[in-house]
Amino acid sequence: MPPRQTPVPFVEVSAEAATAFRRRLHRWYRQHSRDLPWRRTRDPYRILISELMLQQTQVSRVLDFYRRFLERFPDLHTLAKARPHRVLEAWEGLGYYARARNLHKLAKHVTSTRDGIIPDSPEALRELPGVGAYTAGAVASFAYERRAALVDTNVARVLHRVFAPELAPKSGAGLKRLWHIAEQLLPRTGKTTWTHNQALMELGALVCSARSPKCGECPVHSICASAERFATLPVALRRGRRRPADVANGGTEP
Ligand code: SF4
Repeated sequence: MPPRQTPVPFVEVSAEAATAFRRRLHRWYRQHSRDLPWRRTRDPYRILISELMLQQTQVSRVLDFYRRFLERFPDLHTLAKARPHRVLEAWEGLGYYARARNLHKLAKHVTSTRDGIIPDSPEALRELPGVGAYTAGAVASFAYERRAALVDTNVARVLHRVFAPELAPKSGAGLKRLWHIAEQLLPRTGKTTWTHNQALMELGALVCSARSPKCGECPVHSICASAERFATLPVALRRGRRRPADVANGGTEP
């Protein structure tokens, strides 16, 4: 009989470590965050569009598409009534067209069954076409300021490096454990959760990048379990081809 594998334990973060992490991260975010249009709104429709566009796509590329798409389809009802080819036309150039098809389906579904109101809980959001765990957490916290966790590719990388370098972050078990860490780190209020989730994603995009983490500039350097490892790694080994999901994006289901 093959030897039984020991299950990977869940990582428990102490209240002190969580507070220290949040304090450093939020202070850094207040000084270094980018001014992005979807951070200036709490409109769930606009947040949803930005989250879907940012999947697998760089922020700099999304900015123009986001503005033009909203000019053409300013609200959920206009989008729901649009012909499918018009929606695909507005998405042309962004790629991953399943996102546009799902978005259109979602708009029709929400207008016909929910009076056009995008739900505010991660559970209800998960029932909508094309909405995964990450997108549900993002819409709940960014549009409704709900106390909801989120883990996209960038966040998974940060949590893995800081709290659990022993985990295999891309396995189902590893990802479950990273979600558990994200939940333990949540601040007490939904309002601060907005800042917290934005800051986690921003750190993964701007500082803790996949191939070249800038540990020297990182606000959580002193409490990161991987900082030393990256400091001793030759620069050439940290560089390499970037994968689409690892670029400075706003949200990607891991
Ligand atoms: S110290 Fe380095 S590895 Fe740790 S979170 Fe910061 S950038 Fe990432």
